[in-house]
Amino acid sequence: MASEIPKAGPAVVIYKTGGREVLEYTPDAPVPSPGKGQVLVKNEFIGVNYIDTYFRTGLYPAPKMPYILGREASGTVLSVGSGNIYGLTPGDRVAYMGEGTYAEYSLASAAMATKIPEGVGGDVAAAALLQGLTALTFVREAYEVKKGDWILVHAAAGGVGGLMVELVKILGGKVIATVGEGKEGVARKLGADVVCGYETEEIKRVVAEATGGKGVAAVFDGVGKATFDVDLEVLARKGTLVSFGNASGPVEPVALFRLTAKNIKLLRPTLMGYVAEREEWEAYTKELWDMVAKGVDVRVHDVYPLKEVARAHEDLEGRKTMGKVLLKP
Ligand code: NDP
Repeated sequence: MASEIPKAGPAVVIYKTGGREVLEYTPDAPVPSPGKGQVLVKNEFIGVNYIDTYFRTGLYPAPKMPYILGREASGTVLSVGSGNIYGLTPGDRVAYMGEGTYAEYSLASAAMATKIPEGVGGDVAAAALLQGLTALTFVREAYEVKKGDWILVHAAAGGVGGLMVELVKILGGKVIATVGEGKEGVARKLGADVVCGYETEEIKRVVAEATGGKGVAAVFDGVGKATFDVDLEVLARKGTLVSFGNASGPVEPVALFRLTAKNIKLLRPTLMGYVAEREEWEAYTKELWDMVAKGVDVRVHDVYPLKEVARAHEDLEGRKTMGKVLLKP
């Protein structure tokens, strides 16, 4: 097996933080060897997530430089390291979350890998994993959506947002969705009951009309800075604001007393906090694959060659995408 593993392969490396120009395609980055609890994966599809842009710009500090971006991929296990690798063997098709996945060959922690079920393509697996788990864990644990709840979902034509719309509907909730220009149809198709733009007065009016003036039970907000204030305004008494991203920039520090008038619960969760234990990972990935089997729509916006990673980031940051952005090594 070892003889089939090349010594070098393509990867996208950053040497400093900045704009899209810092993304350097390298044809011959060293292929790493799996250590304890790790497996080496030949990636088939690499998931692009908004968080990759935060590490690129420096909004989130990269743990080291040079650094290979990327938090998830799907592919085939080539070799395994020592220790507990959760039964993985060379040849297994896996999807996994980790670091350094903008590469043809990357290391996965076996604890954060899941075998791809028969019949699920590598593209769908890489598209479903991180965003699907985010949507799933958040509608269960950040705010447990209940039948009849009115929920505001921002960026509802996007990767996480779109999946959230679908999950809220499956759980019996009703969705008010915000989207950018030209994306209304996608949000409606996913099941949103009401769709509107981001303008504050429009959101307030639409929420008041839909909820009879009560406000929404929860807001799922991956847009961040631009929508935080209106979120507080349109929540019902005892409502929950789940602010989980920075697509428009990070939310400014918040004075706690802003939560008082309506007894609002405010969370700023991360997916990792819900799947850190292996039992949690197994339970949620199982549920994710069940959802995929039942036909939850995992929309792939486009597949970009790894070399064209800058264009992929440009489209994501430029709000040109509707669904998952994938890279192909
Ligand atoms: P998306 O596919 O949702 O892309 C981001 C979308 O945000 C855009 O398409 C755009 O949709 C919308 N948007 C609104 N305002 C802006 C703006 N000013 N600039 C750019 N985009 C804007 O990306 P992801 O699904 O990958 O991620 C969505 C959010 O979820 C991100 O903030 C991400 O960081 C967060 N996230 C958080 C996780 C966590 O654990 N906390 C895990 C995964 C994702 P439109 O044109 O319709 O407005």
